[in-house]
Amino acid sequence: MKIAFIGLGNMGGGMAANLVKAGHEVRAFDLSEEALAAAKDAGCETFDTAREACAEAEAVVSMLPNGAIVKSVYEDEVFARAPEGAILLDCSTIDVATAKEVISKATEQGYAMVDAPVSGGIAAANGGTLTFMVGGATKAFERAEPILNAMGKAVIHAGQAGAGQTAKICNNMLLAITMIGTAEAMIMAQKLGLDPQKFYEISSQSSGYNWSLNAYTPMPGVGVESPADNDYAGGFATALMLKDLRLAMEAAKTADATTALGKHAKELYEAFAEQNGALDFSAIIKTL
Ligand code: NAD
Repeated sequence: MKIAFIGLGNMGGGMAANLVKAGHEVRAFDLSEEALAAAKDAGCETFDTAREACAEAEAVVSMLPNGAIVKSVYEDEVFARAPEGAILLDCSTIDVATAKEVISKATEQGYAMVDAPVSGGIAAANGGTLTFMVGGATKAFERAEPILNAMGKAVIHAGQAGAGQTAKICNNMLLAITMIGTAEAMIMAQKLGLDPQKFYEISSQSSGYNWSLNAYTPMPGVGVESPADNDYAGGFATALMLKDLRLAMEAAKTADATTALGKHAKELYEAFAEQNGALDFSAIIKTL
């Protein structure tokens, strides 16, 4: 299949390479020449503009930094340039309102489109083990699914347009809260004189069981191996967690949802990100 891929950064680079490995003809565009050169090495055909990449494409995949960029790329470059009937997949993490707006405009223009943000970081993008949460009409989902399968280990239809972004920000708000809660409990146990490894052994098999403790233990040398054991390098950057928490709080406001802990988690990550945006988000334990 001919697939245009726009946005070949940390995530998009590996995702486009996996589409090539699956036998697709990938037509790549990015503003960065370095990213384009890497895509060429991975077997993509590269283009000078998104418009050229989209011409002749049966599908368009995008992995871009934010909603404003996604909106402008689709409205100015993709719509009317991609062949009629092409399926459009935006895998970026963006605000729910923009995702819905762009999909609605795509539909008016005769395209099928889904929002398909991911769970999993750069290693999962490179390894083809991302989880995609997809919003859009059932017919659009059915067309998007085989393309997403080539880049991930799980593809879930979340609901109508915007449902993928909703799932993503609600999940990451929960993740931020469980990470801070896990860090607080571990440090408090330690301060009270309990060996943190003992606490891990007990809580990870008790009602404190949660992903941040069991699968991503934020204290070095305790529990499972995680970015904590690598000076908090790699993993999921604090700056990206903060981005998702901001999107979550924006959405909470429009939905009139009560999110006292989500709001507090955003404030804590905001303060932490000032100096530590590049560290894995579990490094927030260092503030306790
Ligand atoms: P990145 O900054 O590494 O990549 C974004 C790419 O988009 C860059 O190469 C940039 O040059 C390109 N770009 C920007 N504007 C463009 C335009 N107008 N036309 C074409 N290309 C353009 O970011 P990333 O880490 O790859 O993240 C991409 C998306 O994935 C974001 O929405 C992010 O929130 C989401 N995400 C990232 C991670 C992660 O761990 N990095 C995890 C899950 C989701």
